[in-house]
Amino acid sequence: MKRKLFQVHYHPVYPYIFKGGKYPGESAERLMFTDYPYLLKLWEIRKEKGEGRGLREDYLGKRLSWLMEKGEDRKTKIPCPKCLERPVELFTAKFSKDLREISVGSFYVSCYKCKHLMYLPQLYRGKAIQVFDFKFSSLKYFGNKVMREKLFNLYKEVYGLPKRLTKQRALEFFKE
Ligand SMILES: [Zn+2]
Repeated sequence: MKRKLFQVHYHPVYPYIFKGGKYPGESAERLMFTDYPYLLKLWEIRKEKGEGRGLREDYLGKRLSWLMEKGEDRKTKIPCPKCLERPVELFTAKFSKDLREISVGSFYVSCYKCKHLMYLPQLYRGKAIQVFDFKFSSLKYFGNKVMREKLFNLYKEVYGLPKRLTKQRALEFFKE
């Protein structure tokens, strides 16, 4: 009960800046976009350690819990290119046979209703494709650095964020 109340009243004002670790000087909010798997791992470790004592007293743990929750219900800002009615909700990643060449782009997006229109055989001939939700948890499936860079650009585009995403702007996005 207490934890729930706490989450409701949690309104961080400043970005969480890492002092050490893999990304000194970088913020947790920007890392949601650029290295979600890293944050997820940190969060899981802290949850395990904090079990019983709770994450309430853990400053980073609190921030990560909040970010993980917020990352699941952000609203995209561009309409589905198929029906132009609903916002985009899905994206596809194409994996070529050698699994090295992967492509992602705003062209390969749609809403849930138009999902069936994404499976155009002429587009995907010879490729393995997978459909993902526009949620931050989808980013956990992409460990590849080049792929993560592409997804960072795609996410900024669909969420209407500036190309140069500052730490403060990234925080404001999760507070929306
Ligand atoms: Zn649609």
